[in-house]
Amino acid sequence: MPPDAPIVVLGATGSIGTQTLDVARRLGLQVVGIAARRASTELATIAAEWPDAVVVAVDPGDDGSALTDRVGVRARFGEEALLELASTARAMVVNGIVGAAGLRASVAALNAGNHLALANKESLVAGGPVVMQALARGGGSLIPVDSEHSALAECLVGEDLGTVRRLVLTASGGPFRGMVRQQLADVSVGDALAHPTWAMGRRVTIDSATLMNKAFEVIEAHYLFGLPYDKIDVTVHPQSIVHSLVEFVDGSIKAQIGEPDMRHPIQYAITGGTRPAVPPSGFDLTQSDLTFEPPDRVTFPCLDLGYAAGRRGGIAPAALNAADEVAVAAFLAERIPFLSIADVVSATLEQTADVTPGSVDDVLAADAEARRIAERHVASVQHDA
Ligand code: MG
Repeated sequence: MPPDAPIVVLGATGSIGTQTLDVARRLGLQVVGIAARRASTELATIAAEWPDAVVVAVDPGDDGSALTDRVGVRARFGEEALLELASTARAMVVNGIVGAAGLRASVAALNAGNHLALANKESLVAGGPVVMQALARGGGSLIPVDSEHSALAECLVGEDLGTVRRLVLTASGGPFRGMVRQQLADVSVGDALAHPTWAMGRRVTIDSATLMNKAFEVIEAHYLFGLPYDKIDVTVHPQSIVHSLVEFVDGSIKAQIGEPDMRHPIQYAITGGTRPAVPPSGFDLTQSDLTFEPPDRVTFPCLDLGYAAGRRGGIAPAALNAADEVAVAAFLAERIPFLSIADVVSATLEQTADVTPGSVDDVLAADAEARRIAERHVASVQHDA
C-alpha cells in the first residue's frame, strides 16, 4: 500500500476508532473520513480535531443539527453516506464498527479497491464468503487489525504459505481460566466482565470468557490466510505477550511478541508494515513469565462450536455469531446463566440450514433468522429456570 494513503476511520468513537486516531495523531497521518453510529457530542469533538475529514453519523438521532452546528457542511447522515465514505478513492479504511453493521462497509471498501484494515469481527466471521469475493473483485487489500491476526501476518512476511504446518492463535483464557464447568454455573456478569489483560467492550469481554472470541478468530484466520481449519490451533497464554505463532514444516516456530497495546497492530496495519518509530514503552520481557497450556474444550465448548461452524461454512458461521450475540446480551441482562450461552448457540446451529451466501443480504437474512431461533432458545432457558 502507499504509506500516504488517506485514512478513513469507521467506528471513530469506539475503542479501535479512538486508538486509530491516537496513532494517526502520533504519526501525523491524514484522516479524510470519520464515521460513527450516532451524532454524539463525542463525534463532534473528534470531528473538530480533524478539519479535513468528512464526518458521517449513520443515525442523526433526535437532532442531527448538534453535529452540523459543529462541523458544518462536512456532516453527512445515513448508511448510504457511510458506504460512500468507505468507498473513498485509494483510502486506507479502518473498520472498527461493532456488529453486523460493519459488514456492508467492509464490502463497500473492498469493492472500491481500497485497503481495508479490519477490526470488525462480523465481516469475516459472518460474511467471509462475500468479503473474499469483494476483495477479489476490487483488487484492494485486506489487512488484519486484531492483535492475533496482525501477529500472524507479521510472522508470515517473506514466508511461503505452503511451508506453514500450523497457525497458533494465543488466547488469554479469560477470567475463568483454570475453572471447571460446575464452578461456572453461578458466575455473575461482573465476574465475566473482569478480563485479566485486555480492556475491551462488553460483548467481546464475555466472548473472551467463553472462548467464543477465539473461535471467531479461528474463522477469521481461515479466511485471512486461506488455510484449512486443521492447520489452525489455539493455545492459552495468560500473559497476552506472545500475540500468536506460526509453526513451519521444518519445525521452526516464529512468534510475534510485545506489550498488549492495540496501537501496535493498528499502526502496523495502517502504515503497511513500514515500522515508523514510536517512543519506547518501557516494556520489559524480563518482567513476565511466558506460559502456554492447551485450551479446556470441555469447560469452554464455544471453541469447538466455532470450529464446527467454520468447517460447515456457508451461513453457519453467521448463525454462530448471531446466536452468540443474542445469548451474550441475554446473559448480560441476567436472563440466562453463563453456561447457557453455549447451549443457545449450539441449539441454534442445529436448526440452521446449510446455505452458501451470495450477497450481503443473504448473510443478513441468515443473521436475522439465527437471532429469531436463538431468542426462542433464550426464552425456553428462562422458562425452565
Ligand atoms: Mg483478538
